[in-house]
Amino acid sequence: QLAPLPPMTPAFLKTLNTVCQQCYRDFAPDDVELGVREHILQDLESFVKRQFTGARLRLFGSSKNGFGFKQSDLDICMVLDGQETAEGLDCISIIESLARLLRKHPGLRNILPITTAKVPIVKFYHARTGLEGDISLYNTLALHNTRLLASYAAIDPRVKILCYVTKVFAKLCDIGDASRGSLSSYGFTLMVLFYLQQRNPPVIPVLQEIYDEEKKPEVLVDGWNVYFYDDLDKLPERWQQKNLESVGALWLGLLQFYTETFDFREYVISIRQSAALTTFNKQWTSKYIVIEDPFDLNHNLGAGLSRRMTNFIMKAFINGRSVFGTTVKAYPPEYTSPMEFF
Ligand code: ATP
Ligand code: MG
Repeated sequence: QLAPLPPMTPAFLKTLNTVCQQCYRDFAPDDVELGVREHILQDLESFVKRQFTGARLRLFGSSKNGFGFKQSDLDICMVLDGQETAEGLDCISIIESLARLLRKHPGLRNILPITTAKVPIVKFYHARTGLEGDISLYNTLALHNTRLLASYAAIDPRVKILCYVTKVFAKLCDIGDASRGSLSSYGFTLMVLFYLQQRNPPVIPVLQEIYDEEKKPEVLVDGWNVYFYDDLDKLPERWQQKNLESVGALWLGLLQFYTETFDFREYVISIRQSAALTTFNKQWTSKYIVIEDPFDLNHNLGAGLSRRMTNFIMKAFINGRSVFGTTVKAYPPEYTSPMEFF
């Protein structure tokens, strides 16, 4: 059982708020850096077209969703003109020949095809910028979930800041790397969005539940409905912001939510509906952290977590709650700035 947190003084909450805002300023890329990413994409697309006529490359992930770091990887999806889906394509041999082609590109290093993963990719390193990236084929759902995340980021500036703070927190606590058995950035972002939807009053609406027609529209991609309300200019007619909390208060609120309030045993972290979804209902009772993908409803982002890793993640949240929730009269001598919290 967790000891209750001491009451927060306005001065402490103000410091916490400054720390969160500063984290965003320190880690967010500027427009120049975003432009560089687009430029690399254009260059790669024209290079790839030499062999794959009709190839189109699209950026997704944090280069596009609004929560990218300066050094975040380039997530690229390749599609071929006139070919709607990957059906009938030999993705593995396309990835292999794409790798052979990319090896001839003078600006790239460390070309590595990975064809055993669920989603086959070619990894590369872009020498001039030091950015790493990968190209997958027909990763169409990822393009849509990137657009969904970007829409939430555009609704309220606090969304972006909290997602950054959570990603930085996860990286520093070593709980944010899916390739090493923990949760992906995407998983943590879904946790932040879910918390913001469940906050009272909510900070963001459930975009997948807002529609103008009588029935929810159906936009099927790979068999899943990817519809969500994306007319953000008109959103104020459908949903009004009533939450006026500071980012600092929301950050501490997030750590409290996942350590004190949210019942992981009973419920699924699901951003597609406002009503509670039970782990029993989904038959996902064997895992403690259960995060439902907003479109691919068979996909639990927490499925790969071991019991050990789950404990490790929960402990990081509990420590975070006490670090960020304990008012300090003076910083210990080794802390020269509030940024040292991170
Ligand atoms: P980072 O800044 O850490 O790179 P990111 O949002 O780009 O953050 P990645 O792990 O690189 O996160 O994933 C890129 C994109 O791939 C995500 O935004 C999401 O669209 C998709 N994705 C990643 N992991 C999953 C997953 N387990 N299930 C479904 N989609 C995923
Ligand atoms: Mg990425």
